[in-house]
Amino acid sequence: MTANPAAIGDTHLAVDPNGAPTAEAGLPAVELRLENARAGYRTIEVLHGIDMAIPSGAVTALLGANGAGKSTTLRTIAGLIPLRGGSLTWRGEQITKMTTTNRAKRGLMLVPDERAVFATLSVRDNLQIIAEASGHPDITPALEAFPRLQERLSQRAGSMSGGERRMLALARALLARPSVLMVDELSLGLSPKVASELFAWLGTVADAGTTVILADQYTEEALALADMVYVLHRGEITFAGTPAELGASELLAASAS
Ligand code: ATP
Repeated sequence: MTANPAAIGDTHLAVDPNGAPTAEAGLPAVELRLENARAGYRTIEVLHGIDMAIPSGAVTALLGANGAGKSTTLRTIAGLIPLRGGSLTWRGEQITKMTTTNRAKRGLMLVPDERAVFATLSVRDNLQIIAEASGHPDITPALEAFPRLQERLSQRAGSMSGGERRMLALARALLARPSVLMVDELSLGLSPKVASELFAWLGTVADAGTTVILADQYTEEALALADMVYVLHRGEITFAGTPAELGASELLAASAS
């Protein structure tokens, strides 16, 4: 099925006439909106004009097979790669040309993978640096969220397992107090137990009001967590809607490699 994501976005989500998000009439507010977004690498176009409306304070899952364009979508929102066409608005404000740094300063945060830590620094220093940069030097919230890190405070981040580094990367993101947290392939290389813990944690982050965007192939857990789902296939959106609306055929397409 090919959905009309713009229409679905407009039906399910609301923006007031000044472009600010609104939750009136029971509709979730729009945090980010991609319209006819095109992006790629060198001569290759990867995103062929996608439309997305990301709801505020909820979990949006971007699902799709390898190479579908999920990471490229997150990089585009973070500003790591420029849009070649179309636009990106954040709470109604046009940010298509805003630098990556300014997006990050204003609370857009991408956790690409477990390498998003300083490998040569200790766990404590990894946390301290970002806590101080955010103006709230207390690292306790990160240790409460991920108690396993407490036991590893003096350990070099680079010597930890992939799952622990992933926790550290997420703990750093938590301390940065993002308004939008984007996580790429949360479950990649993790044991099912650790992946479940991290999915559960992401749910609590969204419950606390942060907008979460999750790109993943691990559809069962991602779907259980998601309020809104976009399925990408070869740089185009083939489904947009709630997990309940996602039929078996889209699920199959989303998990096919
Ligand atoms: P995966 O799970 O494999 O990361 P994905 O859905 O996240 O899949 P992307 O990583 O966005 O997909 O990749 C989309 C397409 O862009 C693929 O064909 C990929 O080869 C290409 N691509 C990704 N990164 C680059 C890059 N840095 N330079 C050139 N091409 C790239």
